[in-house]
Amino acid sequence: THDEMINLNKEVINNFKEYVNPGFLDYRKSVTVGGDYGAVEWRAGGLNTLLDTQGREYIDCLGGFGIFNVGHRNPKVLSAVENQMAKQPLHSQELLDPLRSMLAKTLAAVTPGRLKYSFFSNSGTESVEGALKLAKAYQTPRGKTTFIAATGAFHGKTLGALSATAKSTFRRPFMPMLQGFDHVPFGDIGAMRDRVYRCRSTGADVAAIILEPIQGEGGVIIPPAGYLTAVRALCDEVGALLILDEVQTGMGRTGKMFACEHEGVQPDILCLAKALGGGVMPIGATVATEEVFSVLFENPFLHTTTFGGNPLACAAALATINVLLSEDLPAQAALKGRFLLKGFVRLASAYPEFMVEARGRGLLQALEFRRNDIGYAFAQGMFQHQILVAGTLNNAKTIRIEPPLTISLDYCQQVLAVAERVLGRMRGKEPVHHKT
Ligand code: PMP
Repeated sequence: THDEMINLNKEVINNFKEYVNPGFLDYRKSVTVGGDYGAVEWRAGGLNTLLDTQGREYIDCLGGFGIFNVGHRNPKVLSAVENQMAKQPLHSQELLDPLRSMLAKTLAAVTPGRLKYSFFSNSGTESVEGALKLAKAYQTPRGKTTFIAATGAFHGKTLGALSATAKSTFRRPFMPMLQGFDHVPFGDIGAMRDRVYRCRSTGADVAAIILEPIQGEGGVIIPPAGYLTAVRALCDEVGALLILDEVQTGMGRTGKMFACEHEGVQPDILCLAKALGGGVMPIGATVATEEVFSVLFENPFLHTTTFGGNPLACAAALATINVLLSEDLPAQAALKGRFLLKGFVRLASAYPEFMVEARGRGLLQALEFRRNDIGYAFAQGMFQHQILVAGTLNNAKTIRIEPPLTISLDYCQQVLAVAERVLGRMRGKEPVHHKT
């Protein structure tokens, strides 16, 4: 029975508690919706749903924080990986693998502008790490050494990527960070320009600017229109490289294949991961122009990794891109995103005592609540109605909506109806005057 399952889950947690970071259990309670309901295991239901141990079906609106763009266990991705599994799952990097070459060629075709060569790794963090190393190898001989990132940025937690990540709670215990990393307010071109010219005047010229086109972990922060275009122009003006981290915004999520396409901006280096593996395999890619990538032509062993670009991951990525294009999923994300956001914006203005605003682009959206506990109550309410949503990092004040791009309009409608019911019930229970 359901109760037995919950008891079993409690038993499992109790038995292993002393082996699990207690802070993590706490964290699960405060942010991971359903952490205290606890199905023992989850499995894929349909393309857009998950089943708990009871067989109850949940609409997935968190999408693994951006990995399930083509849905759960997408049959085309699964069968590509199964076929490859039967042939050869892993092999030596030194063998030139046709799948890896095909994936690189495909990425050259679907990514914007002159992006042409790819280095493959296993995660978003590594795709950023690769981008930073590539930029260093290219720019250090040119006397350019400073990296500028944005406040609120998230680029991963290995030491290089963490130096570009902004959140001080993640950085503080590991100080000092890599030398030469600066942060300026996201979306403020004036601040960026000032910092770039200050670096130049102090003899620490700028090697690269690294940005997310829309900040994901930072709470779905969309910069003012024209910001990316202006940053691109600034980079060109001073010979700095533009690194765009599309680990979360890429692969159709925001309504275009890549978020930088909304402004027609072309980076020198593009970081991809998450949804690139179709929710089936982990893979990261650092895609660069020929000019920048050429630093690796001379010595390909400057940056390598055993599992990067393995046959299973490449098979998954190729099938994923195929699904995204053949099913026109970026356009689907734009369409469904508009529908959902319109509904959420209406709810935000109908429930101002709870919500500050709803914002987003495509199917990367955020509902900002007035307080952490209000967002948490909302998320729990959604969970009770079998809809999965999630906070950002360790906060439920901003609830992220990031469903598979394959989600139906029917489900979108259901999500809005349930959200309205949950907010209505909260209004019934809560005193109307909240501290803001
Ligand atoms: N960059 C961005 C923009 C991300 O959102 C994330 C993960 N949330 C990362 C990098 C790190 O990716 P990973 O967790 O796969 O290492």
